[in-house]
Amino acid sequence: MILTLLFFLGASFGSFLTLVLFRVHQKISIIRPRSFCDCCHHPLNIKDLIPVISYLFCRGKCRFCNYNFSSQSFQMEFYLGLSLVNWGLTFDWLALLIEIVMGICYLTDLQELRIYTICPLILITCILPFRLANLISSLFLTTILFMVSFLKKGLGVGDILLLFPLFLFLGLTMSLFFLILSCSLVIIIYLLSQHFIQKKIPFVPYLSWGFLFTNFLIITLS
Ligand SMILES: [Zn+2]
Repeated sequence: MILTLLFFLGASFGSFLTLVLFRVHQKISIIRPRSFCDCCHHPLNIKDLIPVISYLFCRGKCRFCNYNFSSQSFQMEFYLGLSLVNWGLTFDWLALLIEIVMGICYLTDLQELRIYTICPLILITCILPFRLANLISSLFLTTILFMVSFLKKGLGVGDILLLFPLFLFLGLTMSLFFLILSCSLVIIIYLLSQHFIQKKIPFVPYLSWGFLFTNFLIITLS
């Protein structure tokens, strides 16, 4: 029961976070107007705004004009809902902070194909004092990724900067597991959705899900 409440609390925060980032990006006030359909501009009421449930119940469509809503808000609601469930199992504030900051990067990567440098900097500042033992292995992994990126031009610098604090948090073994899992997710989703033509893949959403699953695995194993 408590985990269900935590899920919906996290999902509500995910919905709010998506709204804030979308409106800041579009230069619209966060407070007014109330949420509306992007296509027919009909104001959405409570029935349309229940995190996760409304999107599933309406199959991602506007009830008034049948417009297909972007799944970004739904993805973020689900992601932060599960993040808070993870937190409820461990009370690990550091993991929760990572998942919230990753949530912000998730959305900016989807919307603008970029992340704000302040995000990895916040994470490094908060994680480093608690994970000094993982510094060398994290620097090692990050250097390898920078070299791969320089030679192959695959990963963006922002992605690698964001990976450094995650390596710090996870340590070497779980970092390798997390990298393999995240890359596998990219391959599976893109094979299924056949989005090969898109030149630049937003990688942070896959890293975010990869981190969430890895963190859940750590909780299960401990
Ligand atoms: Zn509509």
